Amino acid sequence: MKKLLVCLSILVLASCGGDPVKTETNTKNQDEAFDGYKERFVLRLWELYPGWASSQGYHKYDSVLTIPNQEQRNKELAFCQSHLDSLKAFDLSALSDNNKTDYHMIEGQLHSTQWYINEYKSYEWNPSDYNVCGSFAEMLANNYDSLDTRLRHFYLRMKNVKAYYETAKQQIKNPTVEHTQLAIDQNLGGASTFDSDLISALDKSHLDAKEKEQILARASEVKASIGDYAKFLKDLKNETPRSFRLGKELYAKKFEHDIQSSYTAKEIYQKALEHKTELHAQMFALTKELWPAYLKDKKMPEDKLVAIKQMIDVLSVKHVAADSFQTEIEHQIPRLVNFIKEKDLIYIDPSKPLVIRKEPAYMAGVAGASISSPGPYDKNGNTYYNVGSFAGWDKAQIESYLREYNHYILQILNIHEAIPGHYTQLVYSNQSPSIIKSIFGNGAMVEGWAVYTERMMLENGYGNNPSTGSGQASKEMWLMYFKWNLRSTCNTILDYGVHVNNLSKEEAMHLLVDEAFQQKAEAEGKWKRVSVTQVQLCSYFTGFKEIYDFREELKKKGGKKFNLKQFHEKFLSYGSAPVKYIKELMNK
Ligand code: ZN
Ligand code: ZN
Repeated sequence: MKKLLVCLSILVLASCGGDPVKTETNTKNQDEAFDGYKERFVLRLWELYPGWASSQGYHKYDSVLTIPNQEQRNKELAFCQSHLDSLKAFDLSALSDNNKTDYHMIEGQLHSTQWYINEYKSYEWNPSDYNVCGSFAEMLANNYDSLDTRLRHFYLRMKNVKAYYETAKQQIKNPTVEHTQLAIDQNLGGASTFDSDLISALDKSHLDAKEKEQILARASEVKASIGDYAKFLKDLKNETPRSFRLGKELYAKKFEHDIQSSYTAKEIYQKALEHKTELHAQMFALTKELWPAYLKDKKMPEDKLVAIKQMIDVLSVKHVAADSFQTEIEHQIPRLVNFIKEKDLIYIDPSKPLVIRKEPAYMAGVAGASISSPGPYDKNGNTYYNVGSFAGWDKAQIESYLREYNHYILQILNIHEAIPGHYTQLVYSNQSPSIIKSIFGNGAMVEGWAVYTERMMLENGYGNNPSTGSGQASKEMWLMYFKWNLRSTCNTILDYGVHVNNLSKEEAMHLLVDEAFQQKAEAEGKWKRVSVTQVQLCSYFTGFKEIYDFREELKKKGGKKFNLKQFHEKFLSYGSAPVKYIKELMNK
């Protein structure tokens, strides 16, 4: 009822404006109304998706587990329709830039949900859509409330698990072999949440013996449901399984919804192919120049790719010792900040320091480095740079890792993750806070920015060799950067190739190992990933390409007047919105 009233008043407001020219008041009223609308939209969203709410730090519905049936999907579709109608009541052109992008993102999300339910239908063919373990594990691992309270919600939430998996079995039709196996592995792998993990949490709690017993009794029913689901999948008669390859039409649409690029999937694929050819040419030229300094006694191989590979291997030997991996990162961050100041590339707010820490135990296994930022409901939380540890690794594994993240690549990694990559982008996006962008933040924009800054820093001379005094990034640095950049480029080629062009595993391995210089183990992992995901592997290159091309376009137009610092700050001021909408607003 309340919603209806608001919509009516907005309609009136929009229609009796009379004057077609935007006025200050109109803008202000529209923005106020839209801000109110967004708040109600999000509350309704959390009611509909309690698991999603919990993952974003909104814990009102922690004890609720929704049953993934047609009734739930109908509710979601009704939600989409009603909110697409609500959006129509606003005059988009009268909204602030921040609200304009929010409007587009809500609309995009609603269209995407409709498409996922009506066309993509993974609830039929992807059994790994059904898994309760992760959300329960988070309840144990994250300290958002007292352990006792979390355990009580945990108990209540377990009530629907049996019905959840019974429903799952009824939804599945003609699944792919790959997603069936993934579902078995992930469900069985996550079951320890209801076993050892739960037991150790109960030990630390203040619940009484009777409550603990109740919880454990229900947990053992949950384990049985999970085991039963895995068995159902193993026994499933699936003589003509669906292919894991998405096919041209679904792929094009998924790309549109997930990435929201101004390029089509096919255009991005073409651009990635061209980019790969350019990178190979540049890498070969550098290899020829560097060869005498490093390998003068060895004849350079005829095959260009083989020669490049040998040069990369030689350069990769230069790396930090395992025990100084984290301290090296700590030293590099202020160096990056100073370089950016010196070159006047972007303003960096000194009041928001980045906390570098050893990766917490519950994240272990995710090797390397990552940024974790506070969610939309944890405004004062720290942003962490998590650095993986080598605990439990053998010597050979550590050496291989250190060669991968060698002297050159480690610097590029820090640019990407921290400054001026992800971390800087986060600081800027927090200056125009938007719950919509926190929840629906565009992955291609976020990753694209981080990938863009890697190149931008080198273009401005980061990674130079002080002994030459040229002030330009060294040839070694460029060669290693190109190798790094080949990864996201070839990920795009791989993804499109596999899902649209039927690329075989053999061809995929050739692409990754011979053309992108990846280790065989890494390439095998990529193949696994591309056979159970689609489009996600493209987001890095797509975002990068869009931002880079846009900058070049503005540079051309602006000539001498183009200012790189202004471009960066303006670009980031719109928050984590799809690049195509940022372009629209910056071009107006
Ligand atoms: Zn070594
Ligand atoms: Zn990233």
